[in-house]
Amino acid sequence: LEAGAPEPASTPMMAQFLAIKAAHADCLLFYRMGDFYELFFDDAVEASRALGITLTKRGKHLGADIPMAGVPVVSADDYLQKLIAQGFRVAVCEQVEDPAEARKRGSKSVVKRDVVRLVTPGTITEETLLEPGRPNHLMAMARLGGADGEWALAWSDLSTGSFRVAASTLEALGADIAAVEPSEIVVPDTLSRDERLAPLFARLGRRVRFEPAQLFDGATATERLCRFYEVATLEGFGAFGRPELAAAAALLAYLGRTQLKARPALARPERVEAGSFLRIDAATRTSLELIRTASGKRSGSLLAAIDRTVTGAGARLLAARLAFPLTDPADIAERQGSVGFFVAEAGLRQALRETLRGLPDLERALARLSLDRGGPRDLGALAEALRRAADLAALEAAPGLPRELGQALRDLAALPTALAEWLTATLGDALPVNRRDGGFIRAGALPALDDALALRDHSRRVVAELQARYASETGLRALKIRHNNVLGYFVEVPEAQGPTLLAVPKEEGRGFTHRQTLASAMRFSTLELADLETRIREAATEALRLELEAFDALRAAVLAQAPALQRASAALGVLDVSAGLADLAVAADWCCPVVDASLAFRVECGRHPVVEAALKASAGPRFVANDCDLSPPAGSGRKGGGAIWLITGPNMGGKSTFLRQNALIAVLAQIGAFVPATSAHIGVVDRLFSRVGASDDLAEGRSTFMVEMVETAAILNQASERTLVVLDEIGRGTATYDGLSIAFAAVEHLHEVNRCRAIFATHFHEMTALAARLKRLSNATVRVKEWEGEVIFLHEVTAGVADRSYGIQVARLAGLPPAVVERARQVLTQLEKSEQGERRTAFIDDLPLFAALNARPAAPAAPPAALAELARIDPDAMSPREALEALYRLKGLA
Ligand code: ADP
Repeated sequence: LEAGAPEPASTPMMAQFLAIKAAHADCLLFYRMGDFYELFFDDAVEASRALGITLTKRGKHLGADIPMAGVPVVSADDYLQKLIAQGFRVAVCEQVEDPAEARKRGSKSVVKRDVVRLVTPGTITEETLLEPGRPNHLMAMARLGGADGEWALAWSDLSTGSFRVAASTLEALGADIAAVEPSEIVVPDTLSRDERLAPLFARLGRRVRFEPAQLFDGATATERLCRFYEVATLEGFGAFGRPELAAAAALLAYLGRTQLKARPALARPERVEAGSFLRIDAATRTSLELIRTASGKRSGSLLAAIDRTVTGAGARLLAARLAFPLTDPADIAERQGSVGFFVAEAGLRQALRETLRGLPDLERALARLSLDRGGPRDLGALAEALRRAADLAALEAAPGLPRELGQALRDLAALPTALAEWLTATLGDALPVNRRDGGFIRAGALPALDDALALRDHSRRVVAELQARYASETGLRALKIRHNNVLGYFVEVPEAQGPTLLAVPKEEGRGFTHRQTLASAMRFSTLELADLETRIREAATEALRLELEAFDALRAAVLAQAPALQRASAALGVLDVSAGLADLAVAADWCCPVVDASLAFRVECGRHPVVEAALKASAGPRFVANDCDLSPPAGSGRKGGGAIWLITGPNMGGKSTFLRQNALIAVLAQIGAFVPATSAHIGVVDRLFSRVGASDDLAEGRSTFMVEMVETAAILNQASERTLVVLDEIGRGTATYDGLSIAFAAVEHLHEVNRCRAIFATHFHEMTALAARLKRLSNATVRVKEWEGEVIFLHEVTAGVADRSYGIQVARLAGLPPAVVERARQVLTQLEKSEQGERRTAFIDDLPLFAALNARPAAPAAPPAALAELARIDPDAMSPREALEALYRLKGLA
């Protein structure tokens, strides 16, 4: 019935399919039929398009052909991965009874099926569906108390069991979500129409999943959490706000919906305190290319440049640390201590990395086992990880071990050795993925299993002996005993010899019963063979039963140790990350920064980690190191505020690189890593803003200029004295004077109101005049050399103002047609002529500073007499000598 014959209209099977599909309307339904998952109707159409598989037909429903597509069960993971990556959700519907059971109920009866799991981007755990070094987060967002209520986020990496919660605010949601980068975020459907969240939802796209509001109910959250963790009270968990509990409970509820019967081994929720980490909004993360580049690739990102970890757990921990740099100098110092230890102990570092290399992914194996999706290989991975961890624990004796590493090694030493021994003694050498394949228990480990296997193997030998006996008794040398799934064991002879066997008398249980005649052969059964077959099958069934029983026992023993194993996995991550960062620091010549609670920002000979590595890899020119000092000027006291560097200089001069490198150095310092510089002193940064490079947000239907202004507004509204801001050319997207005015006002605001440390790159040379009035602002420029009409970029950042913008030279380098370059030169000369004498900055100098803000009295304006004199001067009509005299006259008036 099930095997693919065309179905009449609305068969029982179709009825079953439609009922299950109706309950999972938002998923593609993988409907199990034998060795295939079949998709029907629209699912089939969508899947065939998404996967490039054939769309066929299977019978009719209500008179119309039913579109169908199918994927083999054995390669289902590959297809699932493709579908998940494209944002689909898949309901996996299995046969939940033996087809024989269904047949017993009647010929029209359909095998019982049920959805056993929903595969969604945030809830996958399979090795084949995950990237080893990347966390895969499911997040839930909750809001309590109406439109202006309180917000919270909860997130979990199901594949490792981590679980975190944090309070948030409407303003911070974007940054907080960007830090975690969830693959899927569950949101109450009541928020789907909240206009304020529309841009956020647009950015998250298909990752957003609206769920009924009851999931997020604050009133029942505590109770639901208690039930999940099987505790009477959450007191031992630490203090949580009600919105945080609601978010955490929503996440568990969603897991319940998608994982159905399986219960994941989640760690207890851990609270991420607001203010305990460096806030970095989504635009800044993109601009700095922390985890991936603007084009979405991992290579070329900061993470890729600093990742020297050798295990999955290490790579994930590094990514997690990069997502949440710290703000507490003591916590940062602790991590620096671990890196510093491995910098000093080269021998230990190498030995450790050698042991860690290729270490199986303990955490993810454990997560799969807890969801009952694990197999013998996961147990094998655990055994191997436990053995190697025991080797590492011996390092505990190393002298001068910093606290963090000491703790990690103690966590490894605390691993249950008995479990490791049991696993090692019980598991065989070649392990199958699926437990039902059997054969994973070591010979000698389980006497009952050995007996069953001996019986099975012995019976096989008996079959061989039987064949020899039948052949000699009948004199038919071509007689063979064979096996297939339809007949089981049977005797086969060439067709011509069939009568010989038929002639053997059937007495005392002897004789051959005819079963089948093929073109060239005849097949027979005998009582002896049938008897043997039963014994072989029973022995095999018994062997598998014993193996599965042993698997369950091992699995239970592993899960009983889940907390210790999770701690050990985290410890391995810490060791790997620390040693990896140390390896990098040594190889790339980085230094340990001083990080404290001051407002200092002083970097000597800083470099851009990614650009420098890229130049080195391509054997390009050496990276030019640059200093940066945004510390409050000496003597300005506590109220001083940070310094601002205003950078002018030609395109391609190295401005963006300089801006970014300093922001990256702050991030690296605060994850506890060494930094690419000869020395650095960083007063912890609370928020980091970086707007460097074009950021088009066309998907949200806003112009570049609008996006830039929205982002600038966010910076000016949120930056505190502790903030670090790096801004590249704001005000480009509009008319020159508009843009200049906005850039001007923004810098003034940063200096006077936000008082943060900032680097501001601009094309508006007029702005350099600000240095005269804003005390903590200084001008810097990227040096260039002109040589035989060519510009040479020195990439050196020095104090001062760029003399020209070299735009035309850069355009020529970029390959603009020579005729265009020549014409541009002519136009430029004309423009420069007509502007002479009309001091372009004059209009800016005349503006009273902060008239709008009244933040402080305006700087004294230039005396009117000097201005009047200036207006009279016509530089075009002057000789050099007259110009010099005019200058002296002006000086006298000032
Ligand atoms: P700008 O922002 O001034 O247009 P970029 O920062 O984009 O310039 O730099 C242009 C190119 O110059 C970069 O792609 C990089 O290859 C090179 N560069 C920048 N800074 C340095 C440096 N300090 N040392 C060596 N090469 C650099």
